[in-house]
Amino acid sequence: MSAVLILVDHVGGVVPRSVGELATFGKRIGEVTAVICSSQSAALIPQLSSFAINTVIVCDGVEFEKYSVGATAQGLSQVVAKVNPTAVLITSSARGKEIAGRLAVRCDSGLITDAIDIDSTLTATQSVFGGSTTVHSLVGHGTPIVTLRSNSIEVEVGSGTPTVENFSVTFDGADKAVVTSVEPAVKGGRPELTEASIVVSGGRGTDGNFAPVEELADILGAAVGASRAATDAGWYPHSHQVGQTGKTVSPQLYVASGISGAIQHRAGMQTSKTIVAINKDPEAPIFDVADFGVVGDLFAVLPQASAALKEIQ
Ligand SMILES: Cc1cc2nc3c(=O)[nH]c(=O)nc-3n(C[C@H](O)[C@H](O)[C@H](O)COP(=O)(O)OP(=O)(O)OC[C@H]3O[C@@H](n4cnc5c(N)ncnc54)[C@H](O)[C@@H]3O)c2cc1C
Repeated sequence: MSAVLILVDHVGGVVPRSVGELATFGKRIGEVTAVICSSQSAALIPQLSSFAINTVIVCDGVEFEKYSVGATAQGLSQVVAKVNPTAVLITSSARGKEIAGRLAVRCDSGLITDAIDIDSTLTATQSVFGGSTTVHSLVGHGTPIVTLRSNSIEVEVGSGTPTVENFSVTFDGADKAVVTSVEPAVKGGRPELTEASIVVSGGRGTDGNFAPVEELADILGAAVGASRAATDAGWYPHSHQVGQTGKTVSPQLYVASGISGAIQHRAGMQTSKTIVAINKDPEAPIFDVADFGVVGDLFAVLPQASAALKEIQ
């Protein structure tokens, strides 16, 4: 069986759930080989044992920390040249897509970004135009490189420890955009927006008071999102904006409170598995995409939901 490569990108030495999703997709295609381009492989490898991964290829080197995406694309391209995989799967984060783009140039290969599914024939599925259109596409040249959105599939638990191989990367002079400093975003205990399996969002209806949104988010272990009306008003940071000009999320549960459901907002959350909308206007368009709708004042509904959840916790 031929290999499918998945990139193990990490956040501060922690392997995100999305890597397990890549492994689960990869298993449909071939033997899953995870590639680590990092000097922190010792901390990362044990975290991979719970995923369906056959082999881990470790490209070690400080260059990966120093030159970041450029070095990772270089390392990955050399592994591709050696292994000749059926496909390369990468998480569809901003960083993942930059690595994928650089890799595609280096490997002279086609690239599909923001897929939500890929099958054994390497047909990738994308949800476009605000979720109104589903596209199925195939890479027609080179080694298919596909970036997949987080929260697109249930992670399959692996059995057994993967084989670990070391791979020596030769760095050329290109792609040396130096990372001079890294300052992790200050955050509380909440998960990253695009990685979270639950997102609770607030819009103009919050009138700037996100306290009930945050309270529900914390009870559910969710990330907090916001509409552009809320971020433009300065009520919540732009990094939390969901939508066409914000982040795309696809969680198991998306709670939209005080959000009308403009097409630009829906573009960023419409592929969520279950959508709950709370809005005092029964005609709000968000109800068109909601699985469950509550017509009511969010300042009455959210605290009740939080209180009920606290009771059963
Ligand atoms: C090029 C472009 C890109 C854009 N990109 C984005 C984007 O990325 N993300 C995004 O979100 N928007 C984006 N927008 C803006 C988008 O068109 C909408 O203006 C925006 O989404 C509206 O935000 P909102 O739903 O919070 O506000 P509104 O549309 O004003 O809706 C507020 C809702 O809250 C309800 N409400 C009020 N009070 C309460 C209460 N107490 N309890 C319950 N409900 C209440 C109201 O009934 C109403 O439905 C973009 C627009 C353009 C032109």
